[in-house]
Amino acid sequence: MLKLNYYTLKDTFVRHPINKSNTKHSMNRSLNWVSRAGLRPTKQRIKLAQILIGDGENKHITAEGLFDLVKKSNVSVSLATVYNTLKAFCDVGLINEVMVDGGKSYFDTRLDDHPHFFWEDTGEISDAPSENLEINNLPNAPHEYEITKVDVIIRVKRSN
Ligand SMILES: [Zn+2]
Repeated sequence: MLKLNYYTLKDTFVRHPINKSNTKHSMNRSLNWVSRAGLRPTKQRIKLAQILIGDGENKHITAEGLFDLVKKSNVSVSLATVYNTLKAFCDVGLINEVMVDGGKSYFDTRLDDHPHFFWEDTGEISDAPSENLEINNLPNAPHEYEITKVDVIIRVKRSN
């Protein structure tokens, strides 16, 4: 009897690897994330949200990168929808847009103010440590304008 249980458990484990509950968890997390922001939780939005924040890790991703990932899933989403959804997520403050290099945009799921490294050899960005960053003085905003945000993007390349 014990032995049978053992095999049953093992079998279940193999057929439904660790992720079964995690997938459900990431689905719920994504559903809540989208709904709480006041967006209608469409199938496509949930799928995209799941890729963005389903595993609880922060990400920097381009629309094209997200499109490539969603293509591998069972939900069909056009590149235009990916763009629109990312813009909608930005508008409600779920993610931030970080513009680098000639207007290329990365979408960042981390919401607090933080600097980025821009890796010139790969064209990617990652979070940079913020401990030593100080911005003490900014130029005045142009007449009749106000500063809304200061993005710090530190470009790096191999030094040798
Ligand atoms: Zn970031």
